[in-house]
Amino acid sequence: MNKFWSESIRGLAPYVPGEQSNAADLIKLNTNENPYPPSPQVLSALRQAAGVDLRLYPDPDSFELKHAIRDVYGAPVEQIFVGNGSDEVLAHAFLGLLKHPLPILLPDITYSFYPVYCALYDIQYAKVPLDRDMQIRVDDYRQPNGGIIFANPNAPTGIGIALAEIRRLLDFNTDSVVIVDEAYIDFGGESALALIAEYPNLLVIQTLSKSRSLAGLRVGFALGQPGLIAALEQVKGCFNSYPLDRLANIGAAVALRDREYFERTRTQVINTREWLRAELEKLGFDVLPSQANFLFARHPQRDAAQLHKELRARNIMVRYFAKPRIDQFLRITVGTDDECRALITALRQIES
Ligand code: PMP
Repeated sequence: MNKFWSESIRGLAPYVPGEQSNAADLIKLNTNENPYPPSPQVLSALRQAAGVDLRLYPDPDSFELKHAIRDVYGAPVEQIFVGNGSDEVLAHAFLGLLKHPLPILLPDITYSFYPVYCALYDIQYAKVPLDRDMQIRVDDYRQPNGGIIFANPNAPTGIGIALAEIRRLLDFNTDSVVIVDEAYIDFGGESALALIAEYPNLLVIQTLSKSRSLAGLRVGFALGQPGLIAALEQVKGCFNSYPLDRLANIGAAVALRDREYFERTRTQVINTREWLRAELEKLGFDVLPSQANFLFARHPQRDAAQLHKELRARNIMVRYFAKPRIDQFLRITVGTDDECRALITALRQIES
């Protein structure tokens, strides 16, 4: 910081993403990336698109991409917003839909970017504790609020919430926006997209970073009734006319249309997750029931920070959060079968 900084950013504490490393021999299970490559159709479309047209601005309305989303999710284009990763979509939603006199509500344990946006945009918030089983209890959100946001499945727990519970929340919370962050929904959760037609205050946000193996392309989207989408367009139009570049627009559209590859890879991740869960339990870990592409696990006799360090020394990266309530857990991204086997082998070595 120096004297040139704007006053408004001086006290901010930015979100800290998991470490990125391309080192050889590293098993990277720390940022919930998909272990499988993007669809081959995406890679070939990107190669074709990387040409002279890059001198031109991209389509500011992402027409092709929105039509691909429409075809896959059955929502009209006026109900679709796209952004540079779901982080950007979330940022616009915080500014455009969650800044009101009353504090917004979010779980005490959830995606830790939410409080960062609150600080950036000066939005008041109140944390609602998860219950003893680390689950979201809808009835705890029965209180005056400026909006509600949570991830489903939640992060970093991986625990999902039933669609009937989200419906119940929407039935008693009609005067503020409810945002469901479905970054991990394709690995087994029940999407709230089915409720959009009935609830004008529901916004559902998804990403291509996880289930479509495109974390590096930066594409996320939101679905909701046109009144909410217009708020996001309003913020976008005051921020960046071209958040999705030419490659992102094309690659994302092709990824969405390759449903066969999507089904195959997400099923593989789910199957590996269940194998990994059983193996961790055999080693004595308590593993929360996950509907995501990661597991949140603790060992009753082993310190999580120490385990994290010992795994890192063996070239295996997992995520550790030194935060109240979760500082004895490790968050482990589901990798390929080989990567997960290597993790189990390393944990056995550490134990002995
Ligand atoms: N929501 C949740 C719950 C996440 O874990 C992440 C990934 N860190 C995101 C949103 C953002 O993902 P992206 O910006 O890659 O779409």
